[in-house]
Amino acid sequence: MYKWLYLDPYAEITFNHSRKRCLVFNVLDSKKYLFEDKEYEMIKRIFENDYSTKITDSDVKEYKSLISRFEGNFFGGIYSSIDKPLILYPIINIQRNLRKFKTISSRDQGTDILENLLELSIHFKENNSILKIDKIIQLIRDAENSSLKKINIYIDSYSTHKKEVEILISFLKTAKIKTYIEINIKDYYSFINDLPVTKSNELFALRVIIADYDFNEKIVGEKNVTLKFKMSNEEEYNYYTSKVSGRIDCDFEIDFTKADAAFLRENLFLNEEDIQEIKLTKQNYDANKTLNRNLFGKLVIKNNTVYSGENSSNAIASLDNDINLKQIIFDSLCRSNDWFLIRNNVKPCKSCVYKNICPPISENEIQLKKYNLCNVLN
Ligand code: SF4
Repeated sequence: MYKWLYLDPYAEITFNHSRKRCLVFNVLDSKKYLFEDKEYEMIKRIFENDYSTKITDSDVKEYKSLISRFEGNFFGGIYSSIDKPLILYPIINIQRNLRKFKTISSRDQGTDILENLLELSIHFKENNSILKIDKIIQLIRDAENSSLKKINIYIDSYSTHKKEVEILISFLKTAKIKTYIEINIKDYYSFINDLPVTKSNELFALRVIIADYDFNEKIVGEKNVTLKFKMSNEEEYNYYTSKVSGRIDCDFEIDFTKADAAFLRENLFLNEEDIQEIKLTKQNYDANKTLNRNLFGKLVIKNNTVYSGENSSNAIASLDNDINLKQIIFDSLCRSNDWFLIRNNVKPCKSCVYKNICPPISENEIQLKKYNLCNVLN
């Protein structure tokens, strides 16, 4: 009879080998346990031996505290048997599926591929070409059997794109997809005058963007809209909150392009204690190992070009050419960096024990090209 020190299959492990540290995450209750130095070495040994390793009586004495932590928290312990216990430890390999996927043509994949489309964003920017709205409407029609649940419309310049915005909104009234519209405060009143349906129809949610202290306070009394204040320091935040006291449908968004490092560090950076509080289902933990839950399934249209992320510079398709939604999604799955941009692929997160627990990489992090907005690894 031998003694085997084992971890249960619901104990997920991440390592920081250079610091001799590892984290055991219990996916059943989201509890997290840090181990260092010689305990890290033992967990590494368990991990490298398919979740169970043979131990001696002297190991039992030496690792008493580690073993009681395993047993006391019900994620592992000692098992006595002649044979090594078989533990179906967690392993997931979406890349293998993706490799297989790349060998088949998009045309052969039925409507299943459409299930990967979750969100579509359309930008009307001041200096951009007039959008080919007929092509966008065709894409949304083609998405009828997809999982598309959300459309975002960002209007930086209503006067430049008035006609196309009106055609699109008129179509979306019948498309039955929840549509979130963001519009600058300077264009809001002419927009709402032309398209009051965006306030009265539940399919639409309207957000008015306010930045640089530039707003008329009468907007604070406006009903059925959310006010979104872009700010980059505490002074701006205090100013806006004093103007909207009592109003609940307000969002405050940090403008990463203007905010200074001290403000970000104080208000946004994650601390180790914040991460300890994060609750994750097994499904989301596994998803964090393979794809970006923030960005997966999102297509962005800017300047008549389709991208697979807000900050992506690699075009997936051009509205100047014939378009095929299945081909666009197929190309996004095969070529997109954003949909599969996970912390395990970026520095310094890849060597951090929290890489599968931290929230997925956001557009802001991509824009800043800084992935550790935290006080853990800096
Ligand atoms: S953001 Fe990256 S470096 Fe910071 S705690 Fe999360 S995984 Fe670690």
